[in-house]
Amino acid sequence: MGARPGPHPTHAPPRPPPGRPRTSRTPRRLLAADHPRGTRTRSARDRLPRQTQGPHTRDHLGGRGRRSRAPPPRRRTVAPPALGLPTPSTATRVGRPPGVPHRTRRATRSPGIAGHERLMNLPIRLLPGAGESFGSYLRRTAHALGTTPRMLTTSLGLTPGETNSLLLDPATTHRIAELLGLRTSEIDDLHATRWHPTVLDLRLLGHPQRLHRPWIDTLNTRFCPWCLDENGYWRLEWRLPWICTCDDHEIWLHDHCPHCGSTQRDDAWAPRATTPVSCLSCAKPLTEATPEEADLDARRRTYAGQRLLAEEDSTIAGYPVPADTALRGWRQSIAIQRTLQRDHHRHSVEHWTAHEADRALEQAWPLIDAPDPATAAAVLRRWMLAYQRPWPFSAAQVSTFILPLRHILDDVRAIWGARGP
Ligand SMILES: [Zn+2]
Ligand SMILES: [Zn+2]
Repeated sequence: MGARPGPHPTHAPPRPPPGRPRTSRTPRRLLAADHPRGTRTRSARDRLPRQTQGPHTRDHLGGRGRRSRAPPPRRRTVAPPALGLPTPSTATRVGRPPGVPHRTRRATRSPGIAGHERLMNLPIRLLPGAGESFGSYLRRTAHALGTTPRMLTTSLGLTPGETNSLLLDPATTHRIAELLGLRTSEIDDLHATRWHPTVLDLRLLGHPQRLHRPWIDTLNTRFCPWCLDENGYWRLEWRLPWICTCDDHEIWLHDHCPHCGSTQRDDAWAPRATTPVSCLSCAKPLTEATPEEADLDARRRTYAGQRLLAEEDSTIAGYPVPADTALRGWRQSIAIQRTLQRDHHRHSVEHWTAHEADRALEQAWPLIDAPDPATAAAVLRRWMLAYQRPWPFSAAQVSTFILPLRHILDDVRAIWGARGP
């Protein structure tokens, strides 16, 4: 992998002039195409026949009961407080004629969606962007409807833990897909569960000198200001700590708002209405963040991470392994390197910035990307020499590492045990 050329060394697009996004004049393709003005003001009456057309026709209003759910309160117009949305069976039970959800019509006449209103389905259907996150999709939908993300998500009956783009249980996925007019597979694609479960491993390393943060960020997201400007949505992979640069624009991802410095959450739980590409704290546009060109090595590391997400075969420490094993190995290599570097206390922060995360990867990269096991063992011996302490890994700890790293650790241990520090 070491000699592999970079992802875009030859066909990279020409660099935009410094300080100005090259695409600032690019129309927001998705925003423009997916919710034209006409559909935003479509009335509920207009919507009703539409539900029986279209590619994702479903029986939104008819009497498909959900007998497994707890019965809603008897009050006709107020949804259960925990779940802001009634099931279709509710309408049937209270005797409302099929296809005439009068509360929904009232709700759509008002500018926003009141959280306690009945909501049978949304008057618009936005197409999910390629690689978009669920939180981003909800934010865009809320913006198109003229409401706040929190109002929308509570109206959809989602809890905060269900809007964080990590995973959604199948029953909720099915229900939300109907309400949003999407296929369940489209909802799945907005979540991190589309990747291998290894990506979703939220545990810290089982090691006393472990990384002081989860492998995936549970809430915060990075962003590329130029991607936000061009596409108008947030990419799910910006949540992953090892995705540090933008593949398209060859710049570092940003972690903080350029105006107020706050981190950005990907949970569609904001209590006020902002454009989908503005800061959740100060509401100023994140597209104004100053781009910083990423060096080729950093982009190669991000590219290697993207290849693991695509589950392409890969190597670690010179051993060919499946992508999920390699991903675990990346994390463990960082833990080994940081243990031997003894700087683990300095970075006990909740959120690694793109620069910090790539720095950790860069330091572990000689082990991760070693061309063969002998080179990997040499790297580890070099780290041990600098460590100048007794062997730090117990047999139990070593047994938690992936096989290639275990082989190399055992190798070095054998030599180290004979010599001592
Ligand atoms: Zn970008
Ligand atoms: Zn801000």
